[in-house]
Amino acid sequence: MTRFHPPGAPVAVLTTQPLDRALDYRAPTGGVEDGAFVEVPLGPRKVLGVVWGEAAGDWPVEKLRPILRVLEVPAMGSPFRDFIERAAAYTLTPLPAMLRLGLRAPGLGEVPGKRRVYGLGTGTPDRATPARQKVIDALRDRPTDLFALSELADLAGVSTSVVKGLCASGAVLEQAMPRDADFPPLDPARAGKPLAPDQAEAADALRAEIATGDYGTTLLRGVTGSGKTEVYLEAVAECMARGRQALVLLPEIALTAEFLTRVQARFGARPAEWHSGVTQAERRRTWAKTAEGQARLIVGARSALFLPYRDLGLIVVDEEHDTSYKQEDGVLYSARDMAVLRASCEGAQVVLATATPSLESWANAELGKYKRLDLTSRFGEAVLPKLATIDMRDEAVAGGRWISPTLKRAVEARIIAGEQSLIFLNRRGYAPVTLCRACGQQVACHQCDARMVEHRFLKRLMCHQCGETAPMPEVCPSCGVEGKLAAVGPGVERMAEEVTALFPEARVAILSSDLFGSARALKAKVEEIASGGADIIVGTQLVAKGHNFPKLTLVGVIDADLGLQGSDLRAAERTFQLMRQVSGRAGRADKPGQALLQTYQPDHPVIRAILTGDEEAFLREEAAQRRAAGVPPYGRMAGIVISDPDAGVAFDVGNALARNTAGLDEIGAEVYGPAPAPIARIRGRHRVRLLVKAPRQAPIQPALAAWVAGIDLPRSTRLSIDIDPQSFL
Ligand SMILES: [Zn+2]
Ligand SMILES: [Zn+2]
Repeated sequence: MTRFHPPGAPVAVLTTQPLDRALDYRAPTGGVEDGAFVEVPLGPRKVLGVVWGEAAGDWPVEKLRPILRVLEVPAMGSPFRDFIERAAAYTLTPLPAMLRLGLRAPGLGEVPGKRRVYGLGTGTPDRATPARQKVIDALRDRPTDLFALSELADLAGVSTSVVKGLCASGAVLEQAMPRDADFPPLDPARAGKPLAPDQAEAADALRAEIATGDYGTTLLRGVTGSGKTEVYLEAVAECMARGRQALVLLPEIALTAEFLTRVQARFGARPAEWHSGVTQAERRRTWAKTAEGQARLIVGARSALFLPYRDLGLIVVDEEHDTSYKQEDGVLYSARDMAVLRASCEGAQVVLATATPSLESWANAELGKYKRLDLTSRFGEAVLPKLATIDMRDEAVAGGRWISPTLKRAVEARIIAGEQSLIFLNRRGYAPVTLCRACGQQVACHQCDARMVEHRFLKRLMCHQCGETAPMPEVCPSCGVEGKLAAVGPGVERMAEEVTALFPEARVAILSSDLFGSARALKAKVEEIASGGADIIVGTQLVAKGHNFPKLTLVGVIDADLGLQGSDLRAAERTFQLMRQVSGRAGRADKPGQALLQTYQPDHPVIRAILTGDEEAFLREEAAQRRAAGVPPYGRMAGIVISDPDAGVAFDVGNALARNTAGLDEIGAEVYGPAPAPIARIRGRHRVRLLVKAPRQAPIQPALAAWVAGIDLPRSTRLSIDIDPQSFL
């Protein structure tokens, strides 16, 4: 409930500062309402906060300091405040850290009119230097964008004085930040593409859900090419027609461009965007126009869940099974689960769209908590690709080579037919292991318990845990012998090398996330391939996501067993999803496709399930196993990671926790560990983990909070709790 507080009345203000609660202040002249964004004094500083209801009242009113300023933005609605509180409680995140996600508008606290922005000017620099040229190049790349000073300097890789120096000649245009312009109106009444009967039926069902004006979640399942996007855009249209706002979450920024084109075709204009690829000025505009209710459709990354919607009616989570929806840094949350939570606070609908549902969503549909809609026909008459395994035990493959003779023949046939093939290996870089043939040591990251991966394209070694890179050494770091370092195992760059050697006449393109400096460069490459600019694509899971290559008729999976090796709870589920998705890339248009899976274990239940394509049977079997083991989604889990520069200290904390489990015992939870985490050292910190498993209905969060609160952490030690962990690293 939103209350108005008269001038001088005590109110609570929640700030983003790391305090354990809201603080009391006095309402300013003119009073203030709940949810208002305000500036308050905190010690010697001024900080931003939000009015968070009634004061605690443990200080006399006359001793309270007054609120300094009420920002000229709409107040945070009570559904949003409710969401922040519930999300904080669910993920065991301190409230201020959760609020920070909702205050990510660049320059929110600045006084309007004082902001300066920089864009491409028409003048010529009076003196050309390489640094100045970098700025001009960066701006020519994005001629219509306006940047904050430090943002542009970072983008160009120069100091801010270089940018300032270019303003005098007019080569860079400096101006006052213009008032945020309205987004062009989207027209929900424009006609969409004609829908197939199953699409039309699903669209009707979603429209009926929107019409209730209440919370509800629907799993929208359809194979690649079945036209899910057209269906959920009908739900977006219905939501906008009713005057409410819609949010579409995408798992990858790289997919945004294609989606924006479809929105423009459907509604006649482009929607608001919110992700790391847009400028601060544009993000500020999206934030403000979302708060005003003027932006009706927002397309974004998971952090768009924390925008200040005025009246949110629909959240679409596209590719809901995608693991990138789990935030693994800072505040640990699943965007899919938070979408459901936010929608329930807002009285909004959720559509979870996917070709391969996550077991969680599938199980919720089975339980009747979610509705379920299935699209059965593939759009444009194309059929699912034929799947087959290649039994690698029967294939003659030379050492240091990975493409079997059977796969080679299949690729040759496609080249002759003028069609495209995809060679798929979900591993970045050239080789996963660099081994010294003199001493037998592997080259490892000096600050993590992980191997350095050779990236030959970048001519560097890279740690995939911490991102540390180093030049490829000439001599072995362990024994100092020269010329004995050897690449072991395949990465996607090495596969490209093999493909080029096997098919010297073919045009080969590599698609791997680290080979492209920008989303723009990747998009250009994808378009080139789509228009027939390559005969063979060599790619990682980047290609499994949404890109449409009409001439692609063959998918060859180099190592279908790769994902099955981990001890991860979701290894089978992920392998099934990834293999289904990547093989779905073949034969989208009018040509039938084929997918060939190289495997050493063709009788593995997961490989067999992929071949038969019986997804329901696979999910039922997987569900039965998880239910028997009492693990998610049929039980609750939490991962606790304790890290410290000293391994002994981390273990002491872990052991202290393991000795003191009375509160967890009471709710029927079990504690496993402490044990070294699967990655036992990252960035020089030793990591120890405990796993907590509890029955599905157990109140796990308060029990965990009380448990860790009972431990005095040494200053050097960090402890993080991951509710419903997605990975066990
Ligand atoms: Zn050596
Ligand atoms: Zn590292």
